[in-house]
Amino acid sequence: MNSQEPAARKVIPIVPQEADEAMISLYAAHEKIYPRSVSGFFSNWRWGMVFLTQLVFYGLPWLEWGQRQAVLFDLGARRFYIFGLVLYPQDFIYLTGLLVISALSLFLFTAVAGRLWCGYACPQTVYTEIFLWIEKKVEGDRSARMRRDAQPWSLEKAMRKAGKHFFWLALALWTGFTFVGYFTPIKELGIEFLQLSMSSWEVFWTFFYGFATYGNAGFMREQVCKHMCPYARFQSAMFDKDTLIVTYDAERGEPRGARSRKADTAALNLGACVDCTLCVQVCPTGIDIRKGLQYECIGCGACADVCDTVMDKMGYPRGLVKYTTENAMNQHWTSAQTWRHVFRPRILIYTSILAVIVVAMLVSLSLRTPFKVDVVRDRGVMARVVSGGKIENVYRLQVMNATEVTQRYQITVTGLPGLMVSSENVVTVDSTQSRWVAVRVQAPFDTATPGSHPIQFEIASLDSPGSLSEKSAFLVPR
Ligand code: SF4
Ligand code: SF4
Repeated sequence: MNSQEPAARKVIPIVPQEADEAMISLYAAHEKIYPRSVSGFFSNWRWGMVFLTQLVFYGLPWLEWGQRQAVLFDLGARRFYIFGLVLYPQDFIYLTGLLVISALSLFLFTAVAGRLWCGYACPQTVYTEIFLWIEKKVEGDRSARMRRDAQPWSLEKAMRKAGKHFFWLALALWTGFTFVGYFTPIKELGIEFLQLSMSSWEVFWTFFYGFATYGNAGFMREQVCKHMCPYARFQSAMFDKDTLIVTYDAERGEPRGARSRKADTAALNLGACVDCTLCVQVCPTGIDIRKGLQYECIGCGACADVCDTVMDKMGYPRGLVKYTTENAMNQHWTSAQTWRHVFRPRILIYTSILAVIVVAMLVSLSLRTPFKVDVVRDRGVMARVVSGGKIENVYRLQVMNATEVTQRYQITVTGLPGLMVSSENVVTVDSTQSRWVAVRVQAPFDTATPGSHPIQFEIASLDSPGSLSEKSAFLVPR
């Protein structure tokens, strides 16, 4: 090629590359769930639990016990009043016991029947149920709500939405107010509320708890169960093949399909499921139980209730969706056989441990000494020799009266020959109060070698049975 000639330009065609795999988005937009209302056996149980838990929650702070609120957690004074009990922070062991009992109960109930707590007693379920009830009363049931949400805004729609939010907010704020009423006397709180003189922390917690209720029960709903609750993640570890769970009997239900009430299912080769999708419509988490057990299922039994009504209408036996166990389904057990296997050794062990802890806690509470004492050596005063050739140490005792009457306590000390309390040895403490007292303890000069010696303070109530022993040390100077 002549070097003077321009080189021919090479053209590289650009061909759009065909994607060999479809792009899959892992993001799924949240779809609003409109649970349909349902009635039936499990629904009645849930409403029973709603009434019971809310009667306790809203009613308890208004109960009186003598001259005070029956249940009050007075954080400022560091006293917890539970009917006749007055607990101090030193009684923390009982709170620990209560937490252990709660955890074991959760294990037990989950092993017996899955997410019983979630389906019937969890505050998220209970408040969602109440908020849904308000929503239904103001806006109508599922189909009316769906229709209205799809319509453009109108005066009627705005009024209904505003009415619903008004009732939701009123209930949520009442819930927040009640919550604060466990920590500050609720009658005083009510007066402060009317006079607009609540303290800043009372206002903060009323609104914080109220808005948490409003947000969780009004808007978040199943999102809390699906994405925020840690229990949903580890509950499957507590299930086994003899745990009662809400189950769709696929063997009986499939092949599913619509048919008339009088149709011959054998001729049509159809199972018992009429594919009405009512079980999906009532589900508060929006799942289809016919796809098997899913972690979103809170075990509320709403699908079982509604399916039973469908079975009744069709004239089929109930129980296409029911509480049963995996083993019972696979081995076609009768109800009696299923229950025999539900009460398996694991359940009996959990029940026994739980019973032992409950009894131990009740016994411990009934035998509890109704006062507490803390002993601190007064480090501001050195061990010294005083008149009469005695050695003196000074201690500070905090005496806490956990009864609701004034009490006198006698202080004695043991541990060294001739050891005695040289200051006033009877202390009077008002009801539910605590008092710091300085206690001088003396011992003969030659009672012990120089150094630290263990001693015990014995404190006995003069007005009621009970005594306590507290360890300390007596210093003998060189
Ligand atoms: S409610 Fe019962 S019959 Fe209706 S779709 Fe669900 S399982 Fe089938
Ligand atoms: S699948 Fe049934 S039991 Fe589970 S959450 Fe939905 S309605 Fe409740």
